[in-house]
Amino acid sequence: MSIGQRLSEIRKKLPVDVELVAISKTKPESDILEAYAVGQRHFGENKVQDLTEKFEHLPKDISWHFIGHLQTNKVKYIAPFIHLVHAVDSLKLLKMLQKEALKNNRTIQCLIQAKVAKEDTKFGLSFLEINDLLKKKEDYPNVKIVGLMAMGTNTSDNEEVRREFKAVNNFFESLKNDEFKVLSMGMSNDWPLAVEQGSNMIRVGSRIFGPRNY
Ligand SMILES: *Cc1c(COP(=O)(O)O)cnc(C)c1O
Repeated sequence: MSIGQRLSEIRKKLPVDVELVAISKTKPESDILEAYAVGQRHFGENKVQDLTEKFEHLPKDISWHFIGHLQTNKVKYIAPFIHLVHAVDSLKLLKMLQKEALKNNRTIQCLIQAKVAKEDTKFGLSFLEINDLLKKKEDYPNVKIVGLMAMGTNTSDNEEVRREFKAVNNFFESLKNDEFKVLSMGMSNDWPLAVEQGSNMIRVGSRIFGPRNY
């Protein structure tokens, strides 16, 4: 199957109010252009260098998402154009986003990464820590916190993943308003579960572009 066919297979099953972000990390620009040709406009990358190169070369109406851990010293390279930063997990990063957004005379949108997976993942915040961080959001006027991002445990136990997504969705619902309205959950293997549990943004890579060779 081609990239276009795989995209349309996913879109057919996706409710209209769920945004599909095509995760193009490690993939060549030609793959992105193939997806672009069938209307895909939201793409996600997890390496600053790759992202800035792709941004320079590819059509300017692409909305670029930064997924994964973002180092504070690299924020400056993506601040001029990034559409959404998915995984804010510290005040330090929020502070840097504010500084660079202001420098670029713009607002940067971001999501806070919630930690729910059982695996001992290094990144993400507990619900308590997220509440604390949100209390300080007025200090960062050029950063717009538009929702939450989460990753489920990488397991074949669907019930476990469903429980995790449900917990994040319940927390999300308690915070939701006109500005805080994005819930980014679900990848190639678990996006149907995530959508069932209220996700309205999924991040799908290998199911569209094929397996990655690192
Ligand atoms: C790589 C990655 C994805 C996409 O993973 P697939 O399993 O290939 O769909 C989604 N989210 C994050 C944070 C990632 O790093």
